[in-house]
Amino acid sequence: MMADKVRTRFAPSPTGTVHLGSLRTALFAWLWARHAEGDFVLRIEDTDTKRFDPDSVAGIMEGLRWLGLDWDEGPDIGGPFGPYTQSERGALYRDHAQRLLSSDKSYRCFCSPERLQRLRQEQRAAKRQPQYDGACRHLSHDESAARAAVGEPFTIRLRLPAQAQITFHDVIRGDITVAASTLQDPILVKSDGMAVYHLAAVVDDHRMHISHVLRGEEWIATAPYHVLLYEAFGWDTPAWVHLPVILNPDGKGKMSKRHQGERHLPVNVQDFMTAGVLPDAMFNFLSLLGWTPDASKELFTRQELIDRFELAMISPAAAKMPYAKLEWMNGEYVRRLSSQAFRSVSTPFLARAFGKSETAVDQMAGLDYVLPEIQTRVKTLREVAPWLSWAFKSAADMEYTPIDMLIGRQLDARQSAETLEVCQAMLEEAVPFEPKVLQALFRVAAQEQDMKLGSLLGPVRGAISGAKVSPPLFEMMAALGRRECQARIHRAHTALVAEDVARS
Ligand code: GLU
Repeated sequence: MMADKVRTRFAPSPTGTVHLGSLRTALFAWLWARHAEGDFVLRIEDTDTKRFDPDSVAGIMEGLRWLGLDWDEGPDIGGPFGPYTQSERGALYRDHAQRLLSSDKSYRCFCSPERLQRLRQEQRAAKRQPQYDGACRHLSHDESAARAAVGEPFTIRLRLPAQAQITFHDVIRGDITVAASTLQDPILVKSDGMAVYHLAAVVDDHRMHISHVLRGEEWIATAPYHVLLYEAFGWDTPAWVHLPVILNPDGKGKMSKRHQGERHLPVNVQDFMTAGVLPDAMFNFLSLLGWTPDASKELFTRQELIDRFELAMISPAAAKMPYAKLEWMNGEYVRRLSSQAFRSVSTPFLARAFGKSETAVDQMAGLDYVLPEIQTRVKTLREVAPWLSWAFKSAADMEYTPIDMLIGRQLDARQSAETLEVCQAMLEEAVPFEPKVLQALFRVAAQEQDMKLGSLLGPVRGAISGAKVSPPLFEMMAALGRRECQARIHRAHTALVAEDVARS
């Protein structure tokens, strides 16, 4: 039964945060498992202890959870084929290495690191590809066992079969053939007894009944070794699916952290989280990076993506990372949120931007007047805070520099100050203190003053927001409340009077 079941895995090495390419690998493996009603396994590949970063496992899990990828088995929840962290599976790998030794499919290699380094140097000097020369391949059983018995350090290498080439099948790339002359007997177990990635990954994929191995195309070069290892053990291979790399936006090289002009491009999952990308948008966007479920549209629900997912439809071609498309798509998802949902996803961003607690932000009831206006204007959640700096200040913090922000169109400083006086008097009449009421009052005032509404509002907008760009004025005023508006207008008025004195 197990053999028929689709089981995929995401097998990151915990060396840092999750790169966008790895996140896409995880997503495709998850989509395939969910599509086929199979299982998705999380396995931590930490055999290379030198590169191990202990915080990284938590970061990986946080990234997967953020995107909404749940796993059926993994280091934190266990499962029938655990443990799911390779460093806890050393005995199993040693046991399997021993099996290969006994069947002569592998051999002990006593070559010292110094000898191997010398060999590489000589080969390079002779313009040959550096490769192990097989010096220990032909040691007799007795000699090999005797040298091991006296404690001479050794690695275990796979004995590659003599054949001209090896061919394996990739679901999206078809048959891939590699000349055996480019391969060398790979080390399976290091001299300290630790298994190398090749052995650990193959043993685990087999023991965990993985049916489809999805991973980045950079692993194609290791696939022949894995295929030969399966052969050496006499096991069936899983289906191979090597996903295309994601290139930098200019098409040059694999996507990496760097600056484009002044702009810092997000690359790791945490970067996208702090940039205020919504998980639903990211899920939709990433699904389409290398897969086109339907050329006539781009927005899909999670369920549609699960239903339509097909491995064979993944493109093998490397694709450039389309940041503009991600922003556009995120904007679309932002627009679709309910006002309440938009508020709740924005809260952590506001709390961080203005140094407040989330509870304090939650208590700012007035934000409900302006957030829907901002929701129509932003593409990412990080863009929300700059629209709201006025809301997190009090009248005493307001700075009106340059003073031009308080001067209305076709008005001078004195006239602008007079405009503020008219408005100030009017604020008492706004009952309730709501956008519609304020708007009606300001209309009437403009008529009475024989002014354009825009000219009348200019100084008030500056007084309330302290900035040139801001959300609609009446919503801002309602958000702040009557007293705060009066205090700001008073302060702005004082600044204008001082300016008028200075100018005259
Ligand atoms: N541990 C490898 C990585 O860090 C995974 C390779 C594989 O999926 O086989 O990407």
